[in-house]
Amino acid sequence: MSDEAAPTPGNFIRHIIEDDIKANKHEGRVATRFPPEPNGYLHIGHAKSICLNFGVALDYSGSCNLRFDDTNPHKENIEFVESIQQDVRWLGYDWGDRLFYASDYFEQLYEAASELVQAGKAYVCDLTAEQTREYRGTLTEPGTPSPFRDRSVEENLDLLSRMRAGEFEDGVRVLRAKIDMASPNMNMRDPTLYRIRHGVIHHQTGESWCIYPMYDFTHPVSDALEGITHSLCTLEFADHRPLYDWVLDNVSVPCHPQQIEFSRLNLEYTVMSKRKLTELVDEGRVAGWDDPRMPTIAGLRRRGYTPESIRDFCTRIGVSKSENTVQMGMLENCIREDLNEHAPRRMAVIHPLKVVITNYPEGQVEQLDVANHPQDESLGKRTLAFTGELYIDREDFREEAPRKYKRLVSGGEVRLRNAYVIRCDEVIKDAHGEIIELHCSYDSATLGANPEGRKVKGVIHWVSAVHGVAAEVRLYDRLFTAPAPDSSKDGRDYKDFLNPDSLRTVTHCMVEPALAGAEAGERFQFEREGYFCVDPSPGEHATLVFNRVVTLRDSWAKIEQQQNP
Ligand code: ATP
Ligand code: MG
Repeated sequence: MSDEAAPTPGNFIRHIIEDDIKANKHEGRVATRFPPEPNGYLHIGHAKSICLNFGVALDYSGSCNLRFDDTNPHKENIEFVESIQQDVRWLGYDWGDRLFYASDYFEQLYEAASELVQAGKAYVCDLTAEQTREYRGTLTEPGTPSPFRDRSVEENLDLLSRMRAGEFEDGVRVLRAKIDMASPNMNMRDPTLYRIRHGVIHHQTGESWCIYPMYDFTHPVSDALEGITHSLCTLEFADHRPLYDWVLDNVSVPCHPQQIEFSRLNLEYTVMSKRKLTELVDEGRVAGWDDPRMPTIAGLRRRGYTPESIRDFCTRIGVSKSENTVQMGMLENCIREDLNEHAPRRMAVIHPLKVVITNYPEGQVEQLDVANHPQDESLGKRTLAFTGELYIDREDFREEAPRKYKRLVSGGEVRLRNAYVIRCDEVIKDAHGEIIELHCSYDSATLGANPEGRKVKGVIHWVSAVHGVAAEVRLYDRLFTAPAPDSSKDGRDYKDFLNPDSLRTVTHCMVEPALAGAEAGERFQFEREGYFCVDPSPGEHATLVFNRVVTLRDSWAKIEQQQNP
């Protein structure tokens, strides 16, 4: 990570860690982990957790493990395992040689389960799933003990080993902790520790196991085996903390990590649940996990976000215990600021309209030297070819317009960015009245600046018709039209709020020649249009394809203001 990054502001987790270091708890060590389940691609919410866990490890000379929480082989696969590693690395973090899988510990977990059975703290239960639910009671009523709760240690050990050996069908038996059926905390009412799952091939362990440990049992044991000191998780696990601690207090493990909860990131105009993201992909509502409209890291990368902008976002949103929803505009601002500072400027005409400069010497080409960035000279210069035929954007011309209109009108003048002032003399139309061409004249005394006393306010961009390069431009916008698509008050489905205009593809654009050799993933500001990135998806395009990363200004802020004045 670069040294120039500003110091990370404090938060309650960092304060706990600093106090622990002072008190020499865990011998002053700091060890965290990021524990994704490989059942989908990482999203921007995961980035918050990644920046927190890896960031804390970096700042306190600790370590952060990447651990796949892979106890649910039905929904997991190796594509997800690989994409998660790629995304964490792309965000700028390094787990060194500390890549682990919860499945690495299946044998130790089984031993820990046997230990609980031997101590009379776990039992094999034959209730059906439905009976188990009934016996569990409710928030206001205590549960009822399972009729299998008092099985002898011998019988439990025998049944557990036969569960492992594959003697029983799925769902016939589970292993449960024996804690407290009357606990006000439902998680403590004899939670399931192991379940039977036949016929799945686990991406790491193949067919070696037909029983799989539950998250609430796996997680504390894995944390302890890895010597984790601070186990950071999201708030919904607060109610599981007593169980986390119970497991660690009742099995033999080398240490007792501390679970600390923080609030998850919620972001407006998107959904973050993996179930819903999977649905969008599987139903073809988007073009895959890396669709540039997805809130996934892969989608944001393809859209043109930089790792720096995402880390900056995670710093700005901070870490706390209060639930809140962050505005999409905040994420967009992070990339806008980053690209404003670092992206070279280019001119690109998205809706080309031909302009013929009738008084420009025929066949003449002028090579104009132009800065790549208005402030940062280190980004250098490029040459722009100026010719007598060029393209401007259709949106920059009106036959008639109010006086406020600062672009080109019939009979009016406008400056071509980095070049001359032109006047529109004639509008050429086809048989249907559609404008197909403008005939203009240029003033050769106006290159780069207005002569004394001459006022031309409007400036528009352009591309030489001779030297321009054809390109496709994909105008991406927010995937949903509602700020909270998955919590609609009238019970509508989140998919009802999909934005029909989230992608507009424009195929016959013209971009300046300096963009001809642009490489996949390169980012630019198209002057007056926004920030764009060469679509990095491999090998699918015949022409240049640019993805719009973000507009120059936050156009949604205005819409929201109009809606809620
Ligand atoms: P889902 O509930 O949608 O399946 P998950 O939280 O179970 O997602 P995991 O792969 O288990 O997904 O998450 C890995 C880690 O990332 C966990 O520690 C989890 O708390 C954290 N995380 C997931 N979503 C968010 C979020 N929106 N904000 C912050 N941290 C998150
Ligand atoms: Mg999870």
